[in-house]
Amino acid sequence: MCGQVLVALSGLRTEEQNIRMSQLGTEAQPLRVAIVGSGPAGFYVAERFYKEEGLVVEIDMFDRLSTPFGLVRFGVAPDHEKIKNVTRIFEKLMARPGFRFFGNVDVGKNIALAELKERYHQICFATGAQTDRLMGIPGEDFEGSHSATEFVAWYNAHPDYRDYEFDLSAESVAVVGVGNVAVDVARILCRTQEELAATDIADHALEALADSAVKQVYVLGRRGPAQAAFTNPEVKELGEMPGAVIEVVAEEVEPDELTRAELEKNPDKATLKKIEILRGFVSRESESKPRTLTLRFLTAPVELIGDERGKVVAMRLVKNELYVSDDGSLRPKATERFEEIPVQLVFRSVGYRGIPIPDLPFNEGWGIVPNEKGRVIDPGDGQPITGIYVSGWIKRGPNGVIGTNKPDGAQTVGCMIEDLRAGSLLTPSKPEPSAVDELLDERGVRYISREDWRRIDEIETGRGEGGGRPRVKFTSVEDIIAELRR
Ligand code: NAP
Repeated sequence: MCGQVLVALSGLRTEEQNIRMSQLGTEAQPLRVAIVGSGPAGFYVAERFYKEEGLVVEIDMFDRLSTPFGLVRFGVAPDHEKIKNVTRIFEKLMARPGFRFFGNVDVGKNIALAELKERYHQICFATGAQTDRLMGIPGEDFEGSHSATEFVAWYNAHPDYRDYEFDLSAESVAVVGVGNVAVDVARILCRTQEELAATDIADHALEALADSAVKQVYVLGRRGPAQAAFTNPEVKELGEMPGAVIEVVAEEVEPDELTRAELEKNPDKATLKKIEILRGFVSRESESKPRTLTLRFLTAPVELIGDERGKVVAMRLVKNELYVSDDGSLRPKATERFEEIPVQLVFRSVGYRGIPIPDLPFNEGWGIVPNEKGRVIDPGDGQPITGIYVSGWIKRGPNGVIGTNKPDGAQTVGCMIEDLRAGSLLTPSKPEPSAVDELLDERGVRYISREDWRRIDEIETGRGEGGGRPRVKFTSVEDIIAELRR
């Protein structure tokens, strides 16, 4: 309906364009779609398009990085190899006729949104949440205080982070937040060298972690165990590490009165299981392992304490209690009880955050592109911006697992197909596929194609074979391009 109104309002279409529109999505006139971002969100958009019966679609997928798969490659922990098997589905999508990959192409820099509009009928941004949130406490900028996302990107061989340095001569480390990213970081810090050496962790991280002096890792949750964001298999795994003893404070894993009342009303199975897993950690026989991983709850940092050179040496913590907020959720409230723990390295793991996309509206508060079911909305008039869509974390915020992007992508593509049927589309003046390559060639952009990626993949997996590793990743675009030139 909305699309029809837009078509009527535009009133600019010629008869010839109208005929072309009616044929769109056929062999004669394929629908041309650009997907920006090649992580799970982008691939699930592509997958949903291919499932639409009778629709002929040509998909060009762009990524700022030279390799596909986004957070599957650069976010999923190296010791969680099985989770990465999802790339097999993505590889099959890449092999579809009419699919093209343009890696090493930064939309907004190498090619402007206006130029994409001249080349595609629809454009979907699936750029994720590329930065992190701050804790907002004094001392957060001291040396030794980092975001977990930097550490994750570093150990996963993200080219932008390979030169980062983390002082692993620290004996005591705090990870702030109790989401799955915090759990990943804590686990990687506690893994033995043998365990890490069998993964695709970046060589520079493998080397640095081999010399790690870390003995104590704290993971700090500002609310109680029932409110912890980590999922059950992930927290259970923390108790199964050969190189680290798991430790909890008995009274902290017991739900407080408000939580108990909530659980009586709504006995959520997963939450009850989570508490059971944590209780199981209390009764552990004391084991002797090189490292200790301590999970704390209702405890939040209020300040990082630095030495005279501005290097973190300790963290001041406050004990929290819960209260019922206006929206009915249980939120943390500081008490007057404080403690201090010695830490020389801090990772804040308090959530990712989206960054603005050039020439698109952005909701600063939520860190997302304003949208309705994936249709990007102009905040000026509250109307959809023709032909522009979002999917994944940039659409809904940084939550959910890889699979969450599948229904999310289906919702966005549902709108895209609805708009195609209603004729509410961009009217590209250069819809021929060659118009994209030509522009990039003209600008000297060395883009990475699907065939290039196959070669990179082959080299990486080949390099891993000798050492019993799934792959040894390239860590720089320059190295990739040099290798492809051979
Ligand atoms: P997350 O799940 O949103 O967790 C963020 C954590 O930070 C929460 O515990 C939150 O506590 C805490 N937090 C926020 N602000 C804080 C503050 N100022 N002080 C102290 N704590 C604070 O985010 P994430 O861990 O970055 O994960 C992002 C998404 O990726 C999640 O959906 C996650 O499940 C997914 N992921 C999945 C896997 C996997 O499946 N294995 C691995 C990694 C990531 P409150 O709850 O109190 O706000």
